[in-house]
Amino acid sequence: MISSLDESVFPDVTHPRVAGAAIKVPAILPRSAFTQVAPTAAMIPMGVIERVTIHHSGFPQAWILDDQGLTAEHLEFIRRFHTDAPPAGRGWADIGYHFAVDRAGRVWQGRSLLHQGAHVRNHNQHNVGIVVLGNFDLQSPTPAQVHGLTDLVTYLRCIYTMGQMEIWTHRELADEPTSCPGEALMAKVRAFRGF
Ligand SMILES: [Zn+2]
Repeated sequence: MISSLDESVFPDVTHPRVAGAAIKVPAILPRSAFTQVAPTAAMIPMGVIERVTIHHSGFPQAWILDDQGLTAEHLEFIRRFHTDAPPAGRGWADIGYHFAVDRAGRVWQGRSLLHQGAHVRNHNQHNVGIVVLGNFDLQSPTPAQVHGLTDLVTYLRCIYTMGQMEIWTHRELADEPTSCPGEALMAKVRAFRGF
């Protein structure tokens, strides 16, 4: 079973404040909104959070649905792909990403931030993984999706004290070549990150 602590979306954060003002906490659907299946094995503790990496889901076909129920099924499909035994799946203990941002701009909790993610091989330490649903070499993120992603990243930066330089995309961090997060999302990240 998942411990009650794992249901906390932002562990160790009680009263986030920036420059004396409380900051807006983004609405986040809990992990239980798309799966009832607990992680299958122990995971490495996350420890101090030092960076964020942005991904797309990147399936061969564009993802165009914004219905919450169908999105939950899609996230469960991704979780199963990550947890099923190889060669069908990856054989990981849980969905690899800590958050997902859907076409309607909703933010979903994935793997607990208490645990190291599985999203950039050799670079998962202290690294929050966010997947934006879609293939952004084939399509563009919706304005709501960019808004949801920006709010989430802004909040993470505030509560874990990260600068713009700590916001990465998969292609910038990966040892192996990847197009992730796709050209259209890469452009949006460059725009809100400022480089
Ligand atoms: Zn990626």
